[in-house]
Amino acid sequence: MKTWSEVAEVQPLASKIITNSIKKDRISHAYLLQGERGTGKEAIALLITKGLFCEHKQGIEPCQECNACKRIASGNHPDVHWIIPDGQSIKIEQIRNLQREFTYSGLESNKKVYIIKGADTLTLNAANRILKFLEEPSKQTIAIMLTENSQSIIPTIRSRCQVIDLQPLNPVLFEQQLTEQGMGGKDAILMGALTNNLDEAFLLNQDTRFATARSLVVQLIETFSDHPEDVFLFIHSRWVPHFKERNEQEQGLDLLLLACKDILYFHIGNEEAMVFFASDDTLLEKAAMSFSQEKLVDALNAILQAKRNLKQNVNPTLVIEQLTLQIQG
Ligand SMILES: [Zn+2]
Repeated sequence: MKTWSEVAEVQPLASKIITNSIKKDRISHAYLLQGERGTGKEAIALLITKGLFCEHKQGIEPCQECNACKRIASGNHPDVHWIIPDGQSIKIEQIRNLQREFTYSGLESNKKVYIIKGADTLTLNAANRILKFLEEPSKQTIAIMLTENSQSIIPTIRSRCQVIDLQPLNPVLFEQQLTEQGMGGKDAILMGALTNNLDEAFLLNQDTRFATARSLVVQLIETFSDHPEDVFLFIHSRWVPHFKERNEQEQGLDLLLLACKDILYFHIGNEEAMVFFASDDTLLEKAAMSFSQEKLVDALNAILQAKRNLKQNVNPTLVIEQLTLQIQG
């Protein structure tokens, strides 16, 4: 999505709200773009920013060709700064450093833009610091905050931002696009369940870490079915060493969630809905024998709880240990 007209096809409402304010020259000083992965948050943030600096705007569309547009696209514009979580959160030092940089560096214009990824991970102090900076009337500063996790945005941020909700994309259309571009049907279905972003889907599908993650989930289900006494050993020797970063841990749980849903679908004969396993997978039958429907519902709830615990920074090893115990009942 490189132009507003492309954004309008996927996110008509968001596009309308923002482009109207561009037309009226009433850009908000703080946006909160909230939506799932792949719904276009970064594309929209880039478009807003390019529009502010572009040297040859055509109507509302930035030209994509001028020096400013190119530097923004490559992340090298001195007045545009991306902030991403440092580990689990965005810390006040990150904001302080940035503001120092903004104050002293040779600036090309009066305008400055912060694009903040994972805005739900801002610490309270970091958030307050940004808000204070935004409220200085002498500064033409715009913050564009992006989040997948709108529940965790602190109220002081939310109340001062223009909140833009991005709609989830249609998974059937997305799978079609993936298969049209050459991805195998089964892979496309799984990718459709994990992301809404084409590039990310192809990257993920070729990623060896992801392939290992997929196979670890299969092995975990197998261990639950065949050697439940070894599950803890498996978790410590295989699972924990593989899933090191928080996003990897979340991905592991997402895959496990999809696998458990599939076993439930297999139970109730809704094999059309399966995304993780192929319907002829021999493991499915075995897994369905060891996991009753009731047990699966409990497992699904436990996995969702584990995901919430991860988001709240509970120790990841503890999270997966607890989850294992809960699944075993
Ligand atoms: Zn331009």
